[in-house]
Amino acid sequence: MASVVSPAEGIAVGPTKLLINNKWVSSKSGKTFPTLNPATGEEICRVAEADSADVDEAVKAARHAFEQGPWHKMNASERGRLMNRLADLMEKHADELARLEALDNGKPYAVARAADVPLSIACYRYYAGWADKVHGKTIPVNGNYFCYTRHEPVGVVGQIIPWNFPLLMQAWKLGPALSTGNTVILKPAEQTPLTALRVGELALEAGYPEGVLNILPGYGPTAGAAIARHWDVDKVAFTGSTEVGKLIMEAAAQSNLKRVTLELGGKSPNIVFADADMEETIEGCHFALFFNQGQCCCAGSRLFVEEKIYDEFVERSAARARRRTVGDPFDPKTEQGPQVDQDQFDKVMGYIESGKKQGAKLVAGGARVGDRGYFIQPTVFADVQDEMKIAQEEIFGPVMSIIKFKSVDEVVQRANKTMYGLAAAVWTRDITKAHSVANSVRAGTVWVNCYDVFDAAAPFGGFKQSGIGRELGEYGLQNYTEIKTVTVKL
Ligand code: ADP
Repeated sequence: MASVVSPAEGIAVGPTKLLINNKWVSSKSGKTFPTLNPATGEEICRVAEADSADVDEAVKAARHAFEQGPWHKMNASERGRLMNRLADLMEKHADELARLEALDNGKPYAVARAADVPLSIACYRYYAGWADKVHGKTIPVNGNYFCYTRHEPVGVVGQIIPWNFPLLMQAWKLGPALSTGNTVILKPAEQTPLTALRVGELALEAGYPEGVLNILPGYGPTAGAAIARHWDVDKVAFTGSTEVGKLIMEAAAQSNLKRVTLELGGKSPNIVFADADMEETIEGCHFALFFNQGQCCCAGSRLFVEEKIYDEFVERSAARARRRTVGDPFDPKTEQGPQVDQDQFDKVMGYIESGKKQGAKLVAGGARVGDRGYFIQPTVFADVQDEMKIAQEEIFGPVMSIIKFKSVDEVVQRANKTMYGLAAAVWTRDITKAHSVANSVRAGTVWVNCYDVFDAAAPFGGFKQSGIGRELGEYGLQNYTEIKTVTVKL
């Protein structure tokens, strides 16, 4: 591993307070919490810690903005212009945002600059375009009536996001919400609050009116739960673990039946047939699992490989994993940075131990890298059986499990034997096989001969316990509007 130089040098951290009603304020309790550099484990800075009293304050501001402020009367096209202005400012500060993301999250700067930042900007631009294009229908009802629908904003929206793609998850949430005229209270993950706050600062510069976008860093069981159970929040959108998703839904049910959308965990089957292009597939499956330090809800973490090519595939995948460069997120040669924090590091190491104990064959990695920060060797297990813990539970780390299969029907059945249904992939040159698997797999996204191809226009979300609702694309707008039917006697 390359030595980890302190990347904090020369990186401006940006705002560290709460953004409520267009003002930077301390939390009512005066409390702050540290955000750490995962490459060193050292504190970057302290950030104001929101709790329920701050959530109350932000909800009041958001409610006022929704019902009475200039936002309420703003033309839809102007909402689009504001969002494009935010995208312009993010473009202007793209390097800085990528550096801050790498510092706070640990992902390689080069990846943040090439993927996270431009994809976030593209998402804002995509939804900027929708602002004045969301409209209802006229409906030919019986009798002498004029009947039409309006797509109105849901109202005050709480958004709780995770730490794996802080900028991008913020964009996926704010894009459709603000485009359709809602007001927002966004809680970034406690591990990675810095870029969300910097985007808040850019939104102020772009000219968003008071109370439209409120950003409240804080912990899940306090600030997050306060949003989920708030009686004056009309909708909550959450991305994170299935376990917390259930708590959010419960809180919504027990308070005001707020609308709930959830993007949750996954254990995505990645199916490789013997006729696939070997070279391309090995690289594709490597990317599918190890991208973002393995911290992707849609990671191809159950890698099913057809018996005929199994041994060669395992050997070459292990060799590729051993070549993966792990180290300083700011070194341009780095492919993999640290896991986000000590908890995640411990959890992933626990799964590696469990894989060994349950009899999977460790063919690459398996240990920590270095002695500070949260770096883990790219790890590959072969001969993994369906019932092993590493084949059942979401690891969220750089641990590949390769599983053998014989036939199409068998692999589809095994692929679907999971409570999750977020994503899947199939690698084959046979178009019939590709479509047959794509149709039979119970998952919200299926990639064929590729993986992790995302676009702001293409919807994403889960079947089964991987979530409720879709994000991105035109479908992503549906969760941010209420349909109103108006009937006029003629
Ligand atoms: P992870 O286990 O990957 O950290 P979580 O689901 O715990 O994922 O966290 C995702 C987001 O949900 C974070 O912003 C976190 O603060 C928030 N969160 C965690 N627990 C709760 C909760 N009980 N209520 C609301 N939000 C929560």
